[in-house]
Amino acid sequence: MNFQRVVIKVGSALVAPDKNGCSGKYLLSIARFVTACQQAGKEVILVSSGSVAAGRSLIQHGSPNPSIPTKQAMAAVGQMKMMANWQRFFDVPCSQLLITHGDLKDRSRYINIKNTIRILLENGVIPIVNENDTVATEELKVGDNDNLAALVALVSEADALMILSDVDGVYDQDPRANPEANKISVISDITPEIYAMASGTSNVIATGGMQTKIQAADKATENGIATYIVDGSDATVFDQLLQGSNPGTLFEARQAPVKAKKNWLKHTLKSAGQIHLDDGASKAVVNGGASLLPSGISQVAGEFSAGDSVDLISASNGNTIAKGICQYNHHDLAKIKGKNSKQIDNILGYCPSKVIVHRDDMVVLSAS
Ligand code: GLU
Repeated sequence: MNFQRVVIKVGSALVAPDKNGCSGKYLLSIARFVTACQQAGKEVILVSSGSVAAGRSLIQHGSPNPSIPTKQAMAAVGQMKMMANWQRFFDVPCSQLLITHGDLKDRSRYINIKNTIRILLENGVIPIVNENDTVATEELKVGDNDNLAALVALVSEADALMILSDVDGVYDQDPRANPEANKISVISDITPEIYAMASGTSNVIATGGMQTKIQAADKATENGIATYIVDGSDATVFDQLLQGSNPGTLFEARQAPVKAKKNWLKHTLKSAGQIHLDDGASKAVVNGGASLLPSGISQVAGEFSAGDSVDLISASNGNTIAKGICQYNHHDLAKIKGKNSKQIDNILGYCPSKVIVHRDDMVVLSAS
């Protein structure tokens, strides 16, 4: 399997195939696959739908189209059932992350999500993500878990995204209406024709259809994340994936993930401030592949929040040597500059990160 960190999106049709309550019917083979990936040294993050379906029978509604607050109540009670259902298939602990689009758009919350996922994975815990349906209003919603999974793949820096559904890939025509339809195994370019091939969902409980899956693949592949759409209801699909073959549709990554991230850092993000580095830190960053520690910082300029991009400047010659995402806001950074990482907690009363700019969140621009 040609990936190191994968986000696996499991649709409602698999979690709640009877459209009401949770089921283990398909989750067993999915969980076996997750465990096999972990045993092969891969890291797995799940994005699971199904909270509304799982809570449906527990909240009075009496209508085929319950109101939004009723659905939110269903999600609140169903999320517990859905998580309990997942946990029974794993020996390792599962963890719950409920997030909204508002959280992903906010830079400091974004970096909190990223740090949390990093630590969960380091500790062998499976992060299970869903949209926080109970609090999300329309404008703060991602709206469907396909797109949410793509955003989770970005924030967690995965190199693969697998969308498990009850369809086995993208077809050139609607396979339900036309038996002559052919499955497209590999898509290297997501053109308007590809979007046109995707028809709306036919499943009454799932939010996403093929359209949202293609949107998700578009977001992911643009950022270097290979994306698969496979049939998660067919256990043999997982054997094929483990053997390195493609049982569904593979959307090829448009560039290598590291390159995509470096380009994004370099060209897309606007720096909100400058951090001046002493000679030792400048050399460590440029030549030593190091993260930036507070001890190497001589000066902080500009106003920025945690999660904003900053320029790293060599204090001795004023050159911008690197650019990266800062773990602290300018206010707190001014207090810890020049100090040892061990002192951060004492000075600020919190310590989300011992490094100021993590190596993975940095692009080196020039010699020190
Ligand atoms: N967040 C929704 C749920 O858990 C699912 C959204 C989707 O299926 O795309 O029920």
